Amino acid sequence: MHTSLVDYHCHLDLYPDFESLIKDCEQKQIYTVTVTTTPRAWPRNHALTKQLSYVKAALGLHPQLVTQYSAELRLWEQYLLEAKFIGEIGLDAGPAYYASFDLQKNIFEYIVKRCSEMGGKILTIHSVRAVAQVLDTIEKQQLLKRNKAVLHWFTGSLAEARRAIDMGCYFSVNLPMLSSNKGIELIKLIPKQVVLTETDGPFTMNNGKPQKPDNVELCIAKLSSLWRLSSQQTKAILFSNASYLESSIH
Ligand code: MN
Repeated sequence: MHTSLVDYHCHLDLYPDFESLIKDCEQKQIYTVTVTTTPRAWPRNHALTKQLSYVKAALGLHPQLVTQYSAELRLWEQYLLEAKFIGEIGLDAGPAYYASFDLQKNIFEYIVKRCSEMGGKILTIHSVRAVAQVLDTIEKQQLLKRNKAVLHWFTGSLAEARRAIDMGCYFSVNLPMLSSNKGIELIKLIPKQVVLTETDGPFTMNNGKPQKPDNVELCIAKLSSLWRLSSQQTKAILFSNASYLESSIH
């Protein structure tokens, strides 16, 4: 039984000690998907992780940053061939980002279309107030024929969660979700075999400090009690989900 931790959505390159954190995750055997927010960040993230077994860099263009960085979509395209993990990408229709929503939709549609054409990608997707649009795009572009999608920090309705589950999406759940009644109701609905854990560090805090990948232990404690399993059993399920995801695409 493999009981390594899984942090399926973390921004390691936003910490001051980026390089040592990568080494730390690898050494502690924490399966970490380190997402990027702009394509310009990819080459360094890729170079530092490509030989590693546990830390996976993802090629992203964050929906909250499209106004400043939409011109980097060309760079994103340029790096697509060497990236197996794609993120952070997605849509954000919250009030602070609604002005760029049309641009976000164009970029997200393009990204999903290109992944669909290429195949063999795992996408970690932001879907704030835009779950229906995210799922519509995935369906329209037939993304899941040859790729996998992980909905990160899902905040949609139970009906939207059911739709995503039926489509074959995965969910990376974090401490804020496991600390709210709505999040817990969602997690109870989601089959264990499509659940992963994440910190979304440094954007989530624990005791006043940005969470680091080993803080997924806090999620595991809460998930274990929700699932009525030991923490070892919970870790084994999460790691097996992450391994399966990676091995199921080519
Ligand atoms: Mn994020």
